[in-house]
Parts: sequence; C-alpha cells; structure tokens
Amino acid sequence: MFDRPTLAVENEFGLPIHRTSRWIFNCYVVEGGDGHVLVDAGLPATAAAALALISGRDGSADHAVATHGHCDHLGGMPLLHNQAGTLAHLPARCADYLDGETPRVFGAKAALGFVPMYREQPFSLKAAAQFGRASTRIGYSRGETMVFRPPVASFLTDGDPVPGLEGWHVVAAAGHTDDSICYYHPDSATLLSGDAVITLGGRAWFNPEWVDAEASRATEDRLRSLEVRYLLPGHGLPIAGDVWARALAFGERPPGRGLLPRCSRRFGQWPSGGHDRRSDPT
Ligand SMILES: [Zn+2]
Repeated sequence: MFDRPTLAVENEFGLPIHRTSRWIFNCYVVEGGDGHVLVDAGLPATAAAALALISGRDGSADHAVATHGHCDHLGGMPLLHNQAGTLAHLPARCADYLDGETPRVFGAKAALGFVPMYREQPFSLKAAAQFGRASTRIGYSRGETMVFRPPVASFLTDGDPVPGLEGWHVVAAAGHTDDSICYYHPDSATLLSGDAVITLGGRAWFNPEWVDAEASRATEDRLRSLEVRYLLPGHGLPIAGDVWARALAFGERPPGRGLLPRCSRRFGQWPSGGHDRRSDPT
C-alpha cells in the first residue's frame, strides 16, 4: 500500500537522459549515439524499468556504469547482464576491492545525516525490500569484501571517456566512498553525481554520508569548479540552473530538517504533488 511506483521521466530538462526511480534510488538512461548507457542501475526494479524504457525506444542497453560500489548503485547490473547482455563498468578502486581489500564504509552517525532524504521521493516498499536483499548480495555496503559476479568490462578512472557516450568523461569524487566517481558532460554542463552530491528540497547537498572528510572537501571544491547547469544525483530529484549557488556545503545540515525525531514524527507523511509520479513501465 505504500508502494507508489514512480518514474520514467522522459527527457528531463530536454536532455537525452531518462530517469527510472523507486523511492530514493535513481537510475539514469543516457542516449548514446548507437545505444543506451545506464548510470547507477542500483535495484532490479530500476534496472527493469530502464530496460522497458529502452525497449520502448527500440534501443539497446549497451553499457551500465556505476558511480561507486554500494549495492544501491550496482544491484541491478546482474539483471542487465542476464537479460540484455549489458556490459558492466565499475570505478577503478573496485578492482582492489574485488581483489580482497576491505572498503571503508561510514558508520551510523554519518548515516543519520542522510535521514532527511527518506522523505524526498515517494516511498516504495518494493525498493526497500530489494535494497535490503541487495545489501547482503552485491557490492560492499556493509564493509565486507566486495561481491560482484557479472564480468567487469572495464574499470573507470579520472578523465576516462564514458563507454558508449561521446563527450562524457569520468571525474574522481572520493569522500562519500573511496571509489566514488561522477560522470560529466561539459557541452551540456550536466553532472551525474552519484552520491558525491545529492539533492534535497531543490538544493544540491554535498555528501552527508562520508568516509573521508578531507577528500569530501576536495571533491566539493573540484565539482564546484565545473560548470553544472543540470545536476542529476544518485538520490533526490534532478535540479537545473545555477545549482552550486544554493548548494549545502559538505558538513552543512539542511535547515529544519536535520533532526531525527522530527523526521521520525513525520515519517509516512509524503509530500503531495511533484513531477515524480508518472506511470510505471514495469
Ligand atoms: Zn546511494
């Protein structure tokens, strides 16, 4: 009864980018010259919705890229590999994790900072259940050795071109995690930011969950130096305009929304309206 499917926002802001979301989990489908590239296919539900969207366009799902190795950013990649032969690409640091290095993860205090996000997009019981299952099966969300079973087509590092997308490149964005990267298209000033920057209430918010404060500040400086007119985050709604002008800096709390008791009290009261309630292709 709480499952309010969202999505398939066609060509948001007129960009050749579509978004498939459930609850707070965004997956982006970027139109390439020949096929499509999925960014952060984090849940089976969002990956399936993306595949439905692509098949509705008579297109192919050639590549899937992740912004980091958390389960909610790559949990849909096995489905894409099995159903569409989509090639999986991971951040370079994931190669070390797959070799046995233990990734750093943030603790409960950092996770508390994320609580205001839970009301930012319509809740989906299906997404919550898939997130719970994925967290034990794929990625490294719980700090153990990373698990990822589909073949990895390539590992991506700063400055690399994005497979299947002309004019896009990788921007290193450590801080949220050590492997975090963003995808940037200078010509349209579009940034697919993963969790390096999320959005809350129409504002960019630099990384409320972090493993490295110094890296987070350096990443904020670097990203603010990029011209960004379209910010498409891993969590929260995409925003357009002078996105850095009103951004919440790293370490800054959203006004009036940072307290857990307040959020708990209001949990379950979802905002009305918004453009995030479209028909669900799945
Ligand atoms: Zn995430």
